[in-house]
Amino acid sequence: MILIDGKKAAEELREELKKEVSDLKAKYNKVPGLTVILIGDMAPSQIYVRNKEKSAKEVGLKSDVIRYPDSAEEKVILDKIKELNLDDTVSGILVQLPLPKHINKQKVIEAIHPSKDVDGFHPMNVGNLSSGYESSVPCTPLGCYLLIKKVEPNLNGKKAVIVGRSNLNGKPMTQLLLKENCTVTITHSRTKDLKGECLEADIIVAAVGIPELVKGDWVKKDTIVIDVGINKTDKGIVGDVAFDEVSKNAKALTPVPGGVGPMTIACLLKNTIDCFKRTQV
Ligand code: NAD
Repeated sequence: MILIDGKKAAEELREELKKEVSDLKAKYNKVPGLTVILIGDMAPSQIYVRNKEKSAKEVGLKSDVIRYPDSAEEKVILDKIKELNLDDTVSGILVQLPLPKHINKQKVIEAIHPSKDVDGFHPMNVGNLSSGYESSVPCTPLGCYLLIKKVEPNLNGKKAVIVGRSNLNGKPMTQLLLKENCTVTITHSRTKDLKGECLEADIIVAAVGIPELVKGDWVKKDTIVIDVGINKTDKGIVGDVAFDEVSKNAKALTPVPGGVGPMTIACLLKNTIDCFKRTQV
């Protein structure tokens, strides 16, 4: 079984990106910039944002974090986004989710100019991705896609089963694999025979949020299994896949932690650089 080392893959990607930033700097005499807006003081968001800032600086991006208290008014955030949309030194804007209840998430997502939408959540990017056009792609599914391609560069005709239909993970993952000519089944909480669906798969991507949902006898030999889940349990952080059981059958499997997680931030940096490149003439 191939243990897919997301930490190593993310390190390799960051090295490539560092070189790319240095080349872009030589060519344009400026570097891509990422601005993160953080509202409130939720501990996990603080940690994510700190990691994003650190990683962005490591590859040579200009990186800024704008912090607001939990009580910040929606209009203040929307006005700041408008200002950042017009700022040439800002290539990518990310508003850290979740937001306080009084701020409308959809309004915030739609306020970010699609060309600076490094999360790939703007309806314009969602539409472009599903039409097969160039677009920003949400970072976690993009990371999963790159890991799958490392194991199996030719996905033509493979049967992929996506477990979970979230806008963040399941749906964009489906589009990425369709683009690679996979036959994709997207499953969810109302799917009648999840085990049966998974048993048909050459590739399974589990993004559900239920600890160890995907069992060993749901996976046929030679399946690539990507575990997006991050679940806090009594025995520590576990994924959506029963790792010990599934590792006996799968061709390749991502661990949790150390699989998909590290790729997410690396893909955010990639998206920032790609946004920069698309706006240079
Ligand atoms: P979500 O809650 O938005 O969506 C979960 C999906 O799972 C839904 O579509 C739902 O229909 C489906 N589902 C629920 N119960 C099911 C069942 N019994 N059988 C089949 N499908 C079922 O979740 P999300 O935001 O996509 O996150 C999923 C998991 O991925 C969570 O554990 C989250 O913490 C993790 N996550 C990890 C990263 C990362 O960087 N590794 C990033 C984002 C999310």
